[in-house]
Parts: sequence; C-alpha cells; structure tokens
Amino acid sequence: MEQKWLNKVLLYLGQILKKRGGEFTQKAKPPKQKDQITIKSQEIEEGINMSKYKYLIIHCSATKEGVNIKPEQIVDWHTGKNGRGWSRVGYSDVITLDGALHNLHYSENSNPYDDYIEYDEMTWGVKGINKYSKHVCYIGGLDSDGNPKNTMTNEQKGTLEIYLKHELLRHPDLLVAGHNQFSKKACPSFFVPNYCKSLGIDIKNVYTDNPNEYNGF
Ligand SMILES: [Zn+2]
Repeated sequence: MEQKWLNKVLLYLGQILKKRGGEFTQKAKPPKQKDQITIKSQEIEEGINMSKYKYLIIHCSATKEGVNIKPEQIVDWHTGKNGRGWSRVGYSDVITLDGALHNLHYSENSNPYDDYIEYDEMTWGVKGINKYSKHVCYIGGLDSDGNPKNTMTNEQKGTLEIYLKHELLRHPDLLVAGHNQFSKKACPSFFVPNYCKSLGIDIKNVYTDNPNEYNGF
C-alpha cells in the first residue's frame, strides 16, 4: 500500500475514535436547530428513536470516472438550496479519488462508540432504513458515457477496505451491503456481496439479498 494515503486514513480513523470526525478536511456543521422543529417526511418515516446499527451501506456519487468531485459538493447537492434541500447529507463519509476519507456528518450529541445509530448520527442514504444504517460513498461510479461502472481507484479500494474492516472490528454483527440491494438503482455500480467475498469478509457480515436482481459487477 502507498504509505502517504494510508497515513491519511489512519490519521482520520484516529480522529473518529476520539470524536466522530468533522474537522478532517471540512468543517462539518452540527445538526441544524431546525432539524428538531421542522419534521420532514423522511424524518417521520425514519422515526427519532435510536436503533441498533445493522447495515453499513456502500454508495457511489454517480459521477464520471476520473472527475474529482469534492466532498463539499456532495453536501451541497444534498442539502443546498439548489440541491435536494434535505435537512442533512446522505452519507457519513466520502472517499475521494486520492483515497482520502472525509467525514460529512458531524454528530455532537451521540456516542460514536456504541452499537446504535442515534438520531443525530443518521444520514439520508436509503429511505426507510437510515435509522439502522451508516452510509459511505466513493467518488465515481459511472464510465465516461454515464453507464454504471466500478471506477474505484486503487487508493479508493485500499481506503474502503480499511474502512469496512475497521467498522467490522468495532461492530462485529454489522452487515455490509450496497445501495442496489435496497433500491432499484445501480449504485454503487458493483455487487457488494461479491466484493466482500474478494476481501475475505466473513459471510456472516455480508448482506446477500438481491431483490432488484442487480447483476453488474
Ligand atoms: Zn447510493
């Protein structure tokens, strides 16, 4: 592994152990006050009770191969006035083309060490299961024509592997899944159970349902 980005990842992971992210590359905002007052439809569906952390879901940004999208852009697409206008971003963390890991959702009022997704920790990655889930996204996922493709760079692959294994060490009952196992879409442009197998992840930690019959690899 290339030492430079590996050090960055380890530094980052050290920071989330101390305090769940937030200041690595971007000053992530604490949940807005209006979250507590304006209850949007998605939040009604998710409910506000904390649930056991069950799924770690892999996403892609659905952007073209080699296009260096910044984490701030993702936040803007999800929460900006000209974006989707959500009350918070869709992913906890994003992996950019250089393999750097960026925290997008800073949660001040929840315990990042426990086995629960608290209300403050939730991100809006897959409607209906966010209260059990954490979402991680790699930049890319489309070829130059806009078709689904696993475009992960070697650096992104290395970081995602460390990230998944780190989460599994801390949460031994966790299930790793892809967005396409819950929604009729290609995201993250590969079939996560096969990917997990290639990393040697124990099958007990792999979500294998494929209701949308996604078969791209
Ligand atoms: Zn997705």
